[in-house]
Amino acid sequence: MNTARDEPFVARAVGRRLTVLGSTGSIGLSTLDVVAHARERYGDHAFPIEALTAQTNVEILADQVRRFRPRFAAVADPARYGELKAVLAGEQVELGAGPEAILEAAGRPSDVVMVAIVGAAALEPTLAAARRGATIALANKECVVAAGDVFRSTLTASRATVVPVDSEHNAAFQLLDFGQSHAIDRVTLTASGGPFREWPRERMRHATPEQAVAHPNWSMGAKISVDSATLMNKGLELIEANVLFALRAENLGVIVHPQSVVHCLVSYADGSTLAHLSAPDMRTPIAHALAWPTRIAAPSLRLDLAHARQLTFEEPDPERFPCLRLARECLDAGGLKPTVLNAANEVAVGAFLERKIGFLDIASVIEDTLVSQGNGGWAKADDLAAILAADAEARTTASRFCRRRAA
Ligand code: NAD
Ligand code: MG
Repeated sequence: MNTARDEPFVARAVGRRLTVLGSTGSIGLSTLDVVAHARERYGDHAFPIEALTAQTNVEILADQVRRFRPRFAAVADPARYGELKAVLAGEQVELGAGPEAILEAAGRPSDVVMVAIVGAAALEPTLAAARRGATIALANKECVVAAGDVFRSTLTASRATVVPVDSEHNAAFQLLDFGQSHAIDRVTLTASGGPFREWPRERMRHATPEQAVAHPNWSMGAKISVDSATLMNKGLELIEANVLFALRAENLGVIVHPQSVVHCLVSYADGSTLAHLSAPDMRTPIAHALAWPTRIAAPSLRLDLAHARQLTFEEPDPERFPCLRLARECLDAGGLKPTVLNAANEVAVGAFLERKIGFLDIASVIEDTLVSQGNGGWAKADDLAAILAADAEARTTASRFCRRRAA
């Protein structure tokens, strides 16, 4: 068994200084699990931590500070600062609070920034990390969807590297031969189909938040779990793939694969199709992204094909899952449409989780918001101020449609 000392590439990979934005969520916890495993395996100095951040969960964040010894820790909610200070009194750590403290965490010197914040709130910290040339291990997809052109131009200008963590995109990143981009026929993202894959629409009308977040294969945060149930997650991922890999909409496909073992398929002009397989465990793409281009050991579940259930594939049903159609339309339209799609979805999913609207209302609120923004004003989306304004306006409009549906 190799240790970091035996293997210079591994030593270099695990010697990277790491910041985790959103360390208390599902991806954040899995990231620190990969770090803990690397420390057991390669030594206590693996992945020294620069900064950890959370929205409100002071208790988990404080435990993480004691265990992983970051130089800086911050909560986005300023009301929690006093609590954070009190609970970490006497510890050797700088503390911060508020959105500007999250930006500070992103900007502090680290080699890799894991972006595990949920929603478009990740946008500005991600751009800050990119501008200083950090390697971005990118779990968050909303920031890519909301600000595709700005995201791309910031990365080009700063020469920052993005390694996708979203499992399908991490798989595509491993499969794509960028030197042969002329010969890529199709990139197919797999979707589990979510908990309502076999439900008729009438039954979905009464689906509860508890049912929607009970994902059959993955344990994830509430928002992405609802996105998986509506298939908006796959719609956002089509846009994410378009931005990250500069793939055209007509070369991107989705196939439902309920076992979540195959994550992505890349088909080339000569008829070859390459597939990426792993057990459905985010610690695998996280470990890949943290160590890339080296591979390190991860504590993830292993794939056992001899004992696996069948691997099956089917077309997604656009009638029962209209969010996928809406996302495709926004991908085709470009401009600020993906920004509006993402903002309206965040608002609608939030309202559903708070039981203010029904499950089927999610797609209706998004569609109403897109229609009400009209066909005019879909200006170029290469200016951050325009994106933030479109995002804010879409949130206001979508909130109004949520209130109407609740009434
Ligand atoms: P989560 O809700 O479990 O965790 C979100 C984290 O972000 C928490 O640490 C929270 O404190 C922090 N946060 C929330 N709002 C914030 C704000 N406004 N400012 C600063 N911090 C904030 O979410 P998750 O499931 O870990 O997902 C995180 C991101 O990764 C999402 O964009 C999701 O789409 C993506 N992703 C998740 C998975 C998964 O398996 N969970 C898989 C692929 C992609
Ligand atoms: Mg995914």
